[in-house]
Amino acid sequence: MAENFIFVTGGVMSSLGKGIVTASIAAILEDMGFSVNAVKLDPYINVDAGTMNPFQHGEVYVTEDGAETDLDLGHYERFLSIQMSRMNNITTGKIYYSVIEKERRGEFLGSTVQVIPHITDEIKEHIKKTGEGKDIVVVEVGGTVGDIESLPFLEAIRQMKKEKRTCYIHVTYVPILEKTSGEFKTKPTQHSVMKLREIGIQPDIIICRSEKFLPNDIIKKISLFCDVSEEAVISDPDTENIYELPLIFRDQNLHKIISKKLFGTEPVTLFDMVPKEPRMEKWEKIKRIINNSKEDIKIAIVGKYTSHQDAYLSLKEAIRHGGIANELKVNIQLIDSEEIEQRKNPEEVINGFDGVVIAGGFGKRGIEGKILSIKFCRENNIPILGICLGAQLMVVEFARNVCGLKGAHSSEFNPDTEYPVVDLLEDQKKITKLGGTMRLGAWEVKILGGKALQIYKTDKIYERHRHRYEISHKFIKIFEEKGILFSGISSKGDVPIPEIIEIPSHRWFIGTQFHPEFKSKPFAPHPLFVSFIEASYKYKTERMKN
Ligand code: GLN
Repeated sequence: MAENFIFVTGGVMSSLGKGIVTASIAAILEDMGFSVNAVKLDPYINVDAGTMNPFQHGEVYVTEDGAETDLDLGHYERFLSIQMSRMNNITTGKIYYSVIEKERRGEFLGSTVQVIPHITDEIKEHIKKTGEGKDIVVVEVGGTVGDIESLPFLEAIRQMKKEKRTCYIHVTYVPILEKTSGEFKTKPTQHSVMKLREIGIQPDIIICRSEKFLPNDIIKKISLFCDVSEEAVISDPDTENIYELPLIFRDQNLHKIISKKLFGTEPVTLFDMVPKEPRMEKWEKIKRIINNSKEDIKIAIVGKYTSHQDAYLSLKEAIRHGGIANELKVNIQLIDSEEIEQRKNPEEVINGFDGVVIAGGFGKRGIEGKILSIKFCRENNIPILGICLGAQLMVVEFARNVCGLKGAHSSEFNPDTEYPVVDLLEDQKKITKLGGTMRLGAWEVKILGGKALQIYKTDKIYERHRHRYEISHKFIKIFEEKGILFSGISSKGDVPIPEIIEIPSHRWFIGTQFHPEFKSKPFAPHPLFVSFIEASYKYKTERMKN
């Protein structure tokens, strides 16, 4: 059971990149030889992120055990060597659900059930459980200090000071008045630390998001007003490459301050845990590769949640990882499928890209735009990767335009279609509740051949799913006759479920019913993305020759 807990809170405003800060801190600690866990506390009342709109909240990250979670867990998994599970995302909804269930079972018989101690105890119990078998847990508190919703979480982490070794890190924003004096303004930071103190938490470390590194006088000022030592005021400047952040923090000795706070000494040999100075070799290597990658390729993501930068977060990262593996810079552009649908101009939009990804999604809007894009890539031999809904629509396009099945569709969008080439399985038809009822998490997929076998180099894989509809096995024969290869398959009873589709005669045409992007890491780029980027680069060079 971990005795050491680091709490990361946020001040001034949201969207400061607290998730990446948390992941970076945990990554340095892992590099020092600690076994680490990372946890996200989310103050919203939804039980999980599964029913939340990506337009509002960005991507829903799916874990191996099928939890639909906050996207910060994606950062944790990409930065760390561990796998996330449903334990790593604690929401207000989950906490209340559990307390109310206990109350109904009569576990609190006689007492009035209250926020303190019942809700706060439940929060602490959940947090402590994530420390089983670990040395240190880094806990990110979602929201901003001062929000009503986050109060029970802040109270719970305040109480933990008495029970465990703790370190409180506050992430704030230091704006620069670029247009006038060019000054770094510390007042928002001062006020947000005051707010935190009101709740009873004195930060040990303040991490300041700003466009640039903080100058010394500003560090001194924050140190004085917020009562932390000068070394404990850490800059979090803009970087093009998020994987550089652990190095930026290490260079400012963040790990030493944490060590001192938790163990009373700088990293040497501590107790029986032997933390070493972090060497950060793999991080240095990633930085070198990214800095040395000269040539770039252009990849389009065709989707509909294009107005939220984080809606395709894991997908964008996985594409970048494919770039790292090939030592190429990847320029990713989001393309609104609805616009293609309205203007019917995939050639204008897609020409000039070296590869196209058709993203997953829900709902009818922009569907025909995705289908037009798939048709254009199929006919023009442009590398294309379809993910989940993207793969389903590859099949719809093929059915309509190659197999001659007029009006073929997914029954999600046209329940009356004569050719439901994408359809619900029988057990999904009975489900009425929407929360947590999709096919979720890791499922075994058998690889039967084709590019998939060359790419995965194994005949059995586990990939993460998040969908209700399936490519219908009833049409497999017709598709195969017309040139589709079902190179990955799983099964439900004796019903085969297509998982990977390919067109072998095409340069690179692959659709996956699962989401490979969730398992890609910068140090272990997902093979599908490595292969896709390689093919896109080849396509680019061939195109340049002609
Ligand atoms: N809407 C589709 C389904 O439920 C695809 C979901 C997705 O792309 N994640 O099957």
